[in-house]
Parts: sequence; structure tokens; C-alpha cells
Amino acid sequence: MQKNQNSIDTDNFLKSLGLPSVRVHHSFNHFDFTRPSRRILVIGPMGSGKTEFSAGVWRDSKVAMGKSERIKNSTTTMGADRREVFFIRSILDAGRFPDYPEDALAYRGGYERCGDNIAHIKDSFELEKIISEHPETGTWIIDEASFYDERLVYVMRNESRKRGLLFIFPTLILNFRRDIFNSTASLLLETATDVFPLTAYCEHPDCIDDSFYTYRYYQIDGLECPALYFDPLIVIGGDRQKKGSVEPNYCTRCDRHHYLPGKEYTYFTLKPLGEEASKGNIMPLKDELQAIKNSMEQSQLFHHLHNRYAHDPEQKINLNALKVKFIAEKALIYLFVEQNLVTEELLLSLVENLDLDRHYMEKTLLDNKRPVKLAQKMFTGIY
Ligand SMILES: [Zn+2]
Repeated sequence: MQKNQNSIDTDNFLKSLGLPSVRVHHSFNHFDFTRPSRRILVIGPMGSGKTEFSAGVWRDSKVAMGKSERIKNSTTTMGADRREVFFIRSILDAGRFPDYPEDALAYRGGYERCGDNIAHIKDSFELEKIISEHPETGTWIIDEASFYDERLVYVMRNESRKRGLLFIFPTLILNFRRDIFNSTASLLLETATDVFPLTAYCEHPDCIDDSFYTYRYYQIDGLECPALYFDPLIVIGGDRQKKGSVEPNYCTRCDRHHYLPGKEYTYFTLKPLGEEASKGNIMPLKDELQAIKNSMEQSQLFHHLHNRYAHDPEQKINLNALKVKFIAEKALIYLFVEQNLVTEELLLSLVENLDLDRHYMEKTLLDNKRPVKLAQKMFTGIY
């Protein structure tokens, strides 16, 4: 049978994630509770229906539970019945759906109530404890498993090998840079036995293609401003539509409409400037950050993006990335947090010398788990 273009795209995408050997499912009718020891990844961008998938498993389990005792033999291993489903959420999600009951598994367009079979956890140790308190439960749905510590992946793999437990992970695998989200996501990919790739429509108004990617952009003066590649990995904020330079928006886009300016600049220019600085030659980095902050058109970043995008009407939107504030701050944070090329001492001195935005930097460094206390600016006004 000839494959259609969508399934070829899906296959290529999964190969690019390093998933050639797992069982790939393309449609989902009724869930199979008979096969033990599976670790199922449900991957897809926002809006692709990952939570609806979980709710479907939950509903199917209720139907399967109504069957006779003979069925129980085929769905049970060492006392754990895979028709017994438990739903795990992050403690950070606890207040996310204030309009629903506390035990609700909420998704766009509805919710299921899970009673005692839902819990909020903060790490792998808490998951281990809940699993041991529920020896009769065979299926565990772990929402956004990528957001937990790496140890969680091994806890689940060991339990599933030992007692036939079934784990389902509805999760984002790629970040806005189209890189694997983090090391927990890599381990989930490594240890999965099955994958259900879900897609959504590209959210660009001119497009109805399938999309796999999460797109981050800022909204400034009504304009869509793509996030630069070196935008901070983590920005903690709410769910609402955001305006301005501090908090980004997210949507789902296909390859063509997923704008990601500045990747080449990051590796071709910014990182080498950081490497020079780490050897003691800080002036080239300082000059570039200063230009970005005070005279953007003099910066190498501006020249790079301009040469690349200014003459292509389809790509010109990438230049809007420069309308976002705090770009020098973001570049410095990238070198400090992700590349470890800038010491805390150098960071402090650049903040002082270039008069970078201390409030933005403190919050972002904290979000990215590298908190630094920045001294408040000395009061030098003419009062
Ligand atoms: Zn598109």
C-alpha cells in the first residue's frame, strides 16, 4: 500500500527523534489492556488531543471493567489489573483548572472525574510511594512526564518490567527550538515501547497542514514577533494570551510556519563570543551586547538577520524578533545558564556596565534554576 504524504512525514519526524524501532500507532479506537509491560508515549504539540487520548483510555477502562471475571485474567499481572487506571499530574498543575472539580481530568471541551484515582506529585519519589500504595492498579497515566526528574523514567521502566504495569505518557517532546525538551524527554524516548504521534492543524491562518512543532512568539503592537533561538528555555507564566516582551505566547505550527530566527547566529557568533570571554577576552562580547542594547543596527545579530530575511517576503516576519525587548539580557542568560561560558562574576559586571534590566534577569535566571541576586542599581540621578 502506498503511504500518503502525512504518514511519510510522521515516519520521518519520528526517525528524527530516534524512534525507528518502536511500534507506531496511527489511529486509536479502543484501548488494549491485555498486553503487559508497555510504556506508551503519546506525543504531539499543544492542541493535538493528548489529554483527550488519556480521557479515552479512562472511559475504555470503565467499559472493560464491566466485563466478566474471565477478562480479568488477561488484563492482570501479579495482582495489578491494567483496567484499573490512575492519573498522575504535576503539583504545579494543581491550580490550573479552577473551574473544574478537584478530581477532574480536564481537556478542551470536557472532563472526566477520577475520584480517588488522581494525584498530584512533585517528583519520582512521590510516584514510587503512590504506586506502592496501589498494588492493584495496573495502568498509570503520567501527564507531562518530561517535566519531572530523570529518575522517574527508571522507576516506571522497572515497575513495568517487574509487574507488567502499563504506563502512558502524554507529553511534549520538543521545545520551541525543536530540540528534545530535556534529558527526561530523551530517556522517555529511549525506554518507550510504543508511540502514538498526534498532530494538530498548523495554527497559521493561511495553512491547514499537519503540525508537530510548538512555536513561541511575542505579541508586540499587534505584531507576531518570533522568539529568537537563544530565548530562555524556561519562561514561567500563565495560560492566557500575552502581550509585550516579558511573557511569550505559544501555538502549534508546521515546518514552514515555525519561525526560529537566530539559530545560526547563536552558534556562529554568540557562542564563540562567549568562548572568547571565558578565556578572558571579554571585549568582543561586551561590544556585541552593548550594540544589541543601545544601537541594534550596529550589532552582528541585526546584520545576520537582515542578510538572511530582509529580501524574502515570506521570511521577513523573522525580523520582528528584534522588536522584542531584553535581547542583550537573553543572550547573556543563554551563555550563563545553558553554555556555562560566563561566570557569575562576569555576569554581574556586564549587568552593571551595560545597565541591563535587573528585574527581567533575576526572574529569568530563577525560572531557569540558576538564581543570581543582582545588586540594585546605584542611585546616580541628579536629585
Ligand atoms: Zn503552516
